[in-house]
Amino acid sequence: MTESPILCSIDLDAPGKQVGQLQVPRSSNMAGWSNQYVPIVSIAGGDGPTAVVLGGVHGDEPEGQIAALNLLRRLEPAQVHGRLIVIPCVSMDASLEYSRLWPSGANMNRSFPGSPDGSPDEQLAHFLSTEVFPRSEIVVDMHSGGRTGLCVPWSEMHWVDDPEQRRQMVDGMYAWNADWCCVYIDIAGSGLLVGEAERQGKIVVSTELGGGGFVTAEIHRLSISGLENVLRHFGVIAGEAVTRADLGKPEQTLLMATERDNYLLAPESGLFETFVDLGQHVSVGEPLGQMHFLERPDRAPEVIESLTDGIVCSVRAIATTDQGDNVVVVAREASRSELD
Ligand SMILES: [Zn+2]
Repeated sequence: MTESPILCSIDLDAPGKQVGQLQVPRSSNMAGWSNQYVPIVSIAGGDGPTAVVLGGVHGDEPEGQIAALNLLRRLEPAQVHGRLIVIPCVSMDASLEYSRLWPSGANMNRSFPGSPDGSPDEQLAHFLSTEVFPRSEIVVDMHSGGRTGLCVPWSEMHWVDDPEQRRQMVDGMYAWNADWCCVYIDIAGSGLLVGEAERQGKIVVSTELGGGGFVTAEIHRLSISGLENVLRHFGVIAGEAVTRADLGKPEQTLLMATERDNYLLAPESGLFETFVDLGQHVSVGEPLGQMHFLERPDRAPEVIESLTDGIVCSVRAIATTDQGDNVVVVAREASRSELD
């Protein structure tokens, strides 16, 4: 295998707290010879599992980036049983522009497993796939709906076939203690970060922490409390994990969005008007929203109806919509035993 062209300024196997960066080769109009610096922090305190915490795979999702920054600043090696590797913002240039994709147009979450001689995003994906994930037992990848989507919010997972891996992932998903958990499928391509980590047998915990281009204080609290509780649950950081029962809250509502029909796509381009609110129960055939056509004020809007019974867990956060864009997700409420 070709060696990674990415330089890591810290020793990921050394004890203690180290703050450094990954240096990703780049060449731009502003500098022919340049490296993009991606901060990476390792906090190793002793024997125990290793967790990787990732934020900012998409640049317009600040929830996880801020939670990761708060986490890495407050933790010292004495509070870490095993090892924590934190990359608070994977897609630096995208975050600086508050955009989902890299300025090159690359989607970091479609770049895995990556390649050492591919584009910079593929080189970074390859480094994570070959140098970071193999060192870890747990991979936490924090997302949200970004500027264009608004989610209830939830912690999430893919269905994985290995029963023990799946059991641990279900426990991790529930340990976030959000009101909602969601099992989802990829309707927009392959090459996801979590997919590669799952393929390597890791316990993968992910989230969709709101979105819509803004973050409330409540979402910030859920981001850091969930992240810390998951790391406590797996014995990576000190302290007892708490359950929702401990917090006096009812059990999480489990959502299954594992069928294509759960994801409603715009039949034409236009302005989307939503009729439904997050958390609302809807029935098959129920109008979820409609597309308006600015160039055809005489034309009746195109109504989009639910294809299933279920709960609205995500709605498009902006009106401007292209044909084929997801406008609403209607998920089926399920019981936790379905994941056994
Ligand atoms: Zn994302």
